[in-house]
Amino acid sequence: MNMITKCERCNVNLRQRKTPPKTAMIGDEKYYDYWQCPICKTNYANPKQSYMAVDQYGKYEQSLGAQPKEELLKRYNVKTSQPLIIDGRIVGWVIAGHWFTVFLPPEGL
Ligand SMILES: [Zn+2]
Repeated sequence: MNMITKCERCNVNLRQRKTPPKTAMIGDEKYYDYWQCPICKTNYANPKQSYMAVDQYGKYEQSLGAQPKEELLKRYNVKTSQPLIIDGRIVGWVIAGHWFTVFLPPEGL
């Protein structure tokens, strides 16, 4: 995932757009987040960060989107979750008896 965070011309931080530009030629809202340079107004499209999870049996859940807990609750058709805490840090959720560790997939997956 090559996230572009600065304008290549102006070298300032991009701002995320709430809606895709009308001229967007790449993908749609489902797969890309759209960013814009506050100075020259150039638009950039970045692949959406989409989480993955693995449970205690080694089973993977892919393409969970930006809100992995909500997506897992939907996939397992349950309403409750508990945080999965390791070394004082939330690393995932316990959902429907699955201990999910949540992470961003490595580049190229
Ligand atoms: Zn710019």
